[in-house]
Parts: sequence; structure tokens; C-alpha cells
Amino acid sequence: MGYSYNPKSLCADEFINDEEIQETLAYADAHKNDLQLCYDILEKCKPHLHPANEHGAMITHREASVLLACENKGVNDAIKKLAHDIKQAYYGNRIVLFAPLYLSNYCVNGCLYCPYHAKNREIPRRKLTQDEIRAEVIALQDMGHKRLAIEAGEDPKHNPIEYILESMNTIYSIKHKNGSIRRVNVNIAATTVDEYRMLKEAEIGTYILFQETYNKEGYKRLHPTGPKSDYNWHTEAMDRAMEGGIDDVGLGVLFGLEGYRYEFAGLIMHAEHLEAVHGVGPHTISVPRVKPAMDIDPDVFDNGISDEMFEKIIALIRITVPYTGMIISTREGQKVREHALQYGISQISGGSRTSVGGYTEAARPHDTEQFDVSDQRTLDEIISWLIEQEHVPSFCTACYRAGRTGDRFMSFCKNGQILNYCHPNALITLAEYLVDYATPETFQKGFELLEREMYKIKDDNRRHQCVEAIYAIVHEGKR
Ligand code: SAM
Repeated sequence: MGYSYNPKSLCADEFINDEEIQETLAYADAHKNDLQLCYDILEKCKPHLHPANEHGAMITHREASVLLACENKGVNDAIKKLAHDIKQAYYGNRIVLFAPLYLSNYCVNGCLYCPYHAKNREIPRRKLTQDEIRAEVIALQDMGHKRLAIEAGEDPKHNPIEYILESMNTIYSIKHKNGSIRRVNVNIAATTVDEYRMLKEAEIGTYILFQETYNKEGYKRLHPTGPKSDYNWHTEAMDRAMEGGIDDVGLGVLFGLEGYRYEFAGLIMHAEHLEAVHGVGPHTISVPRVKPAMDIDPDVFDNGISDEMFEKIIALIRITVPYTGMIISTREGQKVREHALQYGISQISGGSRTSVGGYTEAARPHDTEQFDVSDQRTLDEIISWLIEQEHVPSFCTACYRAGRTGDRFMSFCKNGQILNYCHPNALITLAEYLVDYATPETFQKGFELLEREMYKIKDDNRRHQCVEAIYAIVHEGKR
């Protein structure tokens, strides 16, 4: 049966409509050398440079795809410059930090790119007990983390929803030294509305689910067995999550599996669909690239993209979905992350280990790892590197705790309020990090940055409050 494109439909075949994507790619090829059109599209993004004054519309997946196809250097430089400026306008120079926490690598799926696949007999299967979770979380808190993304394979017997809920409860309940984990994002397989409702009640932060690929044919080939092989069930998961009351959802494509132009159009269409149906787009978009991993045949992912194209995709996501948080993980090395931060990334992981139980081991374990980590620096090294580039590392979770999620966060963000509120809060959480966890060198650099940044807060009252709060953290031990 043929499906037609309908962004408001709840059927994946209609909102990620293959025919519409094919036509989009043909349209982009036909117009990619029309420089006037490319610059006109860029012009449409410019209201986003002033989010507090103007409400710019999003450019469409077709327009964004024309920019992606365009090979003109002038246009490509203009895309990166605009992405940089839009990131600054919405998010300033703040970069939020988090760490993944792998709970279990038991999995019943057959994903061809993932070493957790059910047929892998070489990988030692492991699932953390609540005591082990406690030990991992304390190790993460000892680094300074306040925000985690929990990860688990799909296995109804070993990792049922009750296990995930109990683990979230354990994580939130740990009080250690100067605080606790304040936001737990969850990356688990697509599930039912009832289970999403339970995650909401357990105070989930963002529900993250990578699409892997939007290309239905490719998806079926890459996911031959297990519940994840159902493309529509997987692709419609965010609608069920929202129906279950989760208003912050995180999209992502695993770049390298299928053609990047198809993926890019699908990703933007997914964001358009969430806006059209729920009135709120994705809270975050992640841009993982597939990595070599144990027992994985590299020929199953031969659509790898160059670093340059990867950076362009990041810049284009930023200008197309300007208010959405963008995440880059330690799958990428220092150089790529450095560039990506310039073009729109707003969240990064640091000090990550992708093995189950990895944070409590002295040396980085590889046997239960999901993929090779390229950026192996410690959290303190990451913080120091961010500071050197004039980014403000942030551990802030105030929006979440103040109930600013979903459409409330989006209107806050679309009105350019992030800078007024988040900047002082980010500085305060950085001061806490520096006092509690930093090495003396990072402490020194960090306080020099704080001094420069505090004086950028325009509102006298807020600046004064910020200076007082930081004084109390340093001199009175307040948190
Ligand atoms: N089980 C959940 C699901 O089915 O969506 C998600 C958890 S999985 C631990 C998190 C993500 O890791 C996957 O969605 C996939 O995109 C990514 N991943 C799997 N294998 C990878 C590889 N070889 N390189 C990079 N990322 C990979």
C-alpha cells in the first residue's frame, strides 16, 4: 500500500515518508547550485540570531537538504558561521556535561552494528545490582557529575522496566559528599505508553532513543531479529513517550549505517512531526557515528562520513532546529569535538566508560564495552579544555527541577531566556565543581573564567546575586 506524506500523522510511513524523502533528495540535487536560493534559505534563519525579539520560523527539511547538498565554499562557510552565531544567541557559551551509565548489556535484539546483539557469545553479559549501581554513581559523583544517561540493552527478562525504575530510584536517592545526581536521562528500547508513564513518574529527564536509520529498507536489514526489528514500533516511540507524559525526548541517527542525506532529511522530518503533533520539538538531538566494536563486521556500515561533512551536518541541524540541545559523545575525538562545539553542540559527555561497571574499575575495561571511546580524557581534563576555549562548563539542572520541561522549556528557549537564567546558574554550578572536584590548575583557570563571565550578566540584580552565591560557595561552603 502506498503512503503519502503527512507530518501530522501518527504512522511512521506517513511522517517519515520514503517518497517525500526521495523527492527531497532529488529537489536538493536539482537546486544545490542555485546559490541565490541557498543564500535566501540562510536569510530565513537569521531571525534566530535574536530569539528574544523575533520568533523565526524553522526552515523546512527540503530547504535544509538543499543546503546539505550545496558544495559551494562560500555557502558552506556561511552555514558554519550562522550555526555558531545561533548557538551563541540561544545557548551562549555554556556547555552542559553528562556521563553515560551502562546498567546492563543483556540484549535480545540482533542489531548488526552493536556488540550487545544476542548472538554474540564472546561478550561477558553483565547487569549491575543496585549495590553496584550505587558504587558506580559514587565514582561518577566523585568526578563531579550531576547528570547521567542510563543505558541498557533490550531484554524483558533481565532488564524489565521494574529494573530500570528501581535503578533510577537508587540513583536519585544517593546523597554523596556535596550533592546528588539531579537528572537521569534514559536510553532504553522503544516501549509502551504505560511503561513511558512509569518512567515519567520515576522522574525521567529526557527519554533518548536513537532512530539508528530512518531508511526503512536499511533498518530492516540492520535489525534482522528481535523486537527492535519493527521499524514502525521504533519510529513511533517518541509519540508514545509523549502520550505517556514524557515531554523531553531526544532524537538521534547513528551516522554511517545508511546514506547521510537520507538520514538528515528523516531527522528533520521527525523534528517537524513532533512540533506538528505535540507542539514541541525534540529536546535534544544526538549525532553518534558508528564505531568499530567487538565482533562487528565493518562491512555492515560502509556509509561513513568525513569529519568535514559531519561538522556540516551539525551546523545544519543547529540552524534548522535552533532551539534544540545538541549532544556529542566520546565516540568522537578531541579535534572533532572542538570543531563541533563551534557549530552548535550544547551538551557533551566526559570521562565516559561504555562498559557495564566500568567506573569502579581502576583501568578502562574493554570486555563489556559497547564501542571504543575516542575521547579518553578525564572529566577534569575536559573541563580544563572547555575553559581554555572560553566555553562555560555547566552542571546546571535548574530548568528540570523548576518544571521547565517540554513546551515550557521550548518557549523559555525560543524567547531567548536561556542566557538570562542559565548563564548565572551555569557559573554557580561551575564554581561548585571547581571548589569540590577540580585540580589546582583547573581551579585557577576556572576562576579566571568566572570573573570574566560574571561581568557579562547585564541585569545588575542578577549579577549581584551570582557574585554573592559564588562568594558563599567559596568562603562559606554553601551549595
Ligand atoms: N537498547 C537501546 C535501544 O535499543 O535503542 C539503546 C541502548 S544502546 C546501549 C545506545 C546506542 O548505542 C544505540 O542506540 C546505538 O545507536 C549506539 N551504538 C550501538 N552500537 C554502536 C557502535 N558500534 N558504534 C557507535 N554507537 C553504537
